[in-house]
Amino acid sequence: MKVLVLNSGSSSIKYQLFNMEDESVLARGIVERIGIEDSFLEQENITGEEILWQEDVPDHSRGISLVIDALKDKEKGVLEDMDEINAIGHRGVHGGEKFADSVLITSEVIEKMEEVSELAPLHNPPNLAGIKECENLMPEKPQVGVFDTAFHQTMPEEAYIYALPYEYYQKYGIRRYGFHGTSHKFVSRRAAELLDQDLEDLKIITCHLGNGASVAAVNQGRSVDTSMGLTPLEGLVMGTRCGDIDPAIVPFLQKKEGLDPEEIDSIMNKESGLLGISGISNDSRDVSEAAQQGNKRARLAEKVFNYRVKKYIGAYTAAMGGVDAIVFTAGIGENDGEIRAAILKDLKYLGFELDKENNNSRGQEIEISTSESRVKVFVIPTNEELVIARDTAKIVGERE
Ligand code: ADP
Repeated sequence: MKVLVLNSGSSSIKYQLFNMEDESVLARGIVERIGIEDSFLEQENITGEEILWQEDVPDHSRGISLVIDALKDKEKGVLEDMDEINAIGHRGVHGGEKFADSVLITSEVIEKMEEVSELAPLHNPPNLAGIKECENLMPEKPQVGVFDTAFHQTMPEEAYIYALPYEYYQKYGIRRYGFHGTSHKFVSRRAAELLDQDLEDLKIITCHLGNGASVAAVNQGRSVDTSMGLTPLEGLVMGTRCGDIDPAIVPFLQKKEGLDPEEIDSIMNKESGLLGISGISNDSRDVSEAAQQGNKRARLAEKVFNYRVKKYIGAYTAAMGGVDAIVFTAGIGENDGEIRAAILKDLKYLGFELDKENNNSRGQEIEISTSESRVKVFVIPTNEELVIARDTAKIVGERE
């Protein structure tokens, strides 16, 4: 079975074509700058051959037909015909309370996605555009939606209810939903495999530290709390997002700086985090480099980032009444041993000991706790696209 995985964002479409016989990636690529000038498609196939097409991509519909053309390209494509694609899996960002698992997309599912669009106005409309365009181009192909929020639907209400008037939860669905669920699910399951223990017996804290970052508490295989909230703004310090702040800062700044809701929202989402504190970059590598050269604000940005992760690890250990394993994943979590060491430095109280040599490794699956360490800590590269492909193959397989 061949599964096309699509991640349609506001101005980009990322894609991977999987051969599910051996889970190999036949081709992967991205269409960037959709609806903006200088748009292009880049693709690399399984033998490393690359395509770069620079052409006008005014909307998602054109973007997806370009993806199909690249996959079918005579020289560097991997398909003879579009019909070889058996199913399409879509990354859905916000499933609200409607989706606790991956689903086969039907008109009813599309309606429900439209209903929750208000909760993710930047993300859900492009997801929907991707789905609708696939329906136009390949009407007979089954499509599956895999939502970032789904894994966290198991949270108990004390973890997801905000202490606002309850009517806002009832009226608008204002509550914690959490994101990166596909990643937290994937790495927590993999940690149980590496420990050779049943998920049912494990308390795991998963730290997805990328440009967007979140922590999840996974007890007996189920998400019981996570740091992102109604939107992906809450929780950790991120590349450009502030994470947790005193909510009173919002009206205070609005008044002082004469900002409207869109402007303050943009400051918190796009001008804060590592970028906001350091004034240098949202990229942790640039921030580290500046810190090493003695830039004080860059050093401060790193310290605030690390401290926040450490606090969440402590909070989730308390929430679960203990922790057996901690997992680091995504760009920073997989690659930056110094940040990992700084976060873990004070976890001796949990019986944790760092294996310094293993912690020097980058981008590979490895245990970074010593054999004596009571809490096991792993680096596990995440693979959200593979989870989407697997869920899609499973759901489509069950239907046939
Ligand atoms: P997202 O998918 O949320 O855009 P990623 O998971 O790709 O983000 O993570 C991006 C972050 O990971 C950046 O801050 C970047 O500096 C960091 N990162 C990526 N590769 C490395 C590396 N080799 N060493 C250190 N940090 C890295």
